[in-house]
Amino acid sequence: MITINKHYLKLQASYLFSMIAERVSDYQNSNPEQEIIRLGIGDCTRALPGACIEALHRAVDEMADDTTFRGYGPEQGYPFLREAIAEHDYRSRGVDIDPDEIFISDGAKCDTGNFQELLSPDIVLAIPDPVYPVYVDTNVMAGRTGAYRDGRYQHVVYLESTRENGFMPSIPSEPVDLIYLCFPNNPTGAVVTREVLTEWVEYARENKALILFDAAYEAFIRDDDIPHSIFEIDGAREVAVEFRSFSKTGGFTGTRCAFTVVSRACRAYDEQGHVQGLHALWNRRQSTKFNGVSYPVQRAAEAIYSDEGKEQVRDIIDYYLKNAARVRKEMDALGFSYVGGRNSPYIWIDAGRDSWDFFDMLLSRAGVVCTPGAGFGTCGNTYIRISAFNSYDKVDRAMKRIGGIVRS
Ligand code: PLP
Repeated sequence: MITINKHYLKLQASYLFSMIAERVSDYQNSNPEQEIIRLGIGDCTRALPGACIEALHRAVDEMADDTTFRGYGPEQGYPFLREAIAEHDYRSRGVDIDPDEIFISDGAKCDTGNFQELLSPDIVLAIPDPVYPVYVDTNVMAGRTGAYRDGRYQHVVYLESTRENGFMPSIPSEPVDLIYLCFPNNPTGAVVTREVLTEWVEYARENKALILFDAAYEAFIRDDDIPHSIFEIDGAREVAVEFRSFSKTGGFTGTRCAFTVVSRACRAYDEQGHVQGLHALWNRRQSTKFNGVSYPVQRAAEAIYSDEGKEQVRDIIDYYLKNAARVRKEMDALGFSYVGGRNSPYIWIDAGRDSWDFFDMLLSRAGVVCTPGAGFGTCGNTYIRISAFNSYDKVDRAMKRIGGIVRS
């Protein structure tokens, strides 16, 4: 008899975006003339940078000629891209990362979801609340949690981000083995200081733990004192893995390219307590299950690091940050308390009431779609997330509409 992985039955259906879509479509059907402005989903709206488009065209032409055609590439990514990343994202910031410690992939979603496969099912897991749901669900699938009760999975240490702790999860009082951190954060938009990140690295070293550090929104960091990489912290090479993505950096959400950094010093332990290198294990996993990102897409990603590409990326990110500033300005004027929107495309707003009620109010009275915080964890029950990924004109009009209904 073929039986299923019973842990899949513990998963909660991801109602969030389907519930939002349903409510939006009901509203649109009853109000066909109302223009709906969507500030919910974190998906880019600006076109790919020109430098990437040119690189894509050139690479497609290479694929059209027998003499320059490429078949299977290296599973870890082409050296030209790994070298560009090592140079521009790490060495230029004084961080020692070798190209062969960089693994190119088709998304930080898959990598943050897949990495836990290398680790034992028995480890103690610490996950933020609110959180990007992939970290939780992939551990549920792997059988690392208990059942779902009262909005949470059992046997998980939840790292709460609340107004009281400045939306910065506290270091657990008990030993944990695997820690997920995401900065700039989705959904809260909070950023981490060097001091706090140092405490996490020290905790991981003392407890022989591993930090999975998701820096998918790194390109939004503008303040000089905020670390761009966990590897800027001494001692992180042994205890942290970093995930980055071109999705939000270069508008690659539909084009797909990302990378994961596993240093040669990064360690976990076998049952006898002997050190096992995670670099070799991740390399083994990727070589077995993954066949690389397409050549044209890797050439397009490489173009992000050209002088032209860097300038174009900066302009695009500045555009979204201007949108975020517009949202913050309105929230300040209306007296809402919030976090994020600086060094981040997300603004996490204290709605002061149930997040779905607030969502319904914004939709029905302003025609604006946000994301109810409850979808990211119980700590989000009275928050909403507004995303800066849209045109400035739409963000501006959405803020005027929200201002109008809140003041009325
Ligand atoms: N990590 C975080 C925190 C995200 O918010 C997202 C996408 O929204 C991802 C990873 C996924 O990135 P990618 O498009 O590279 O799969």
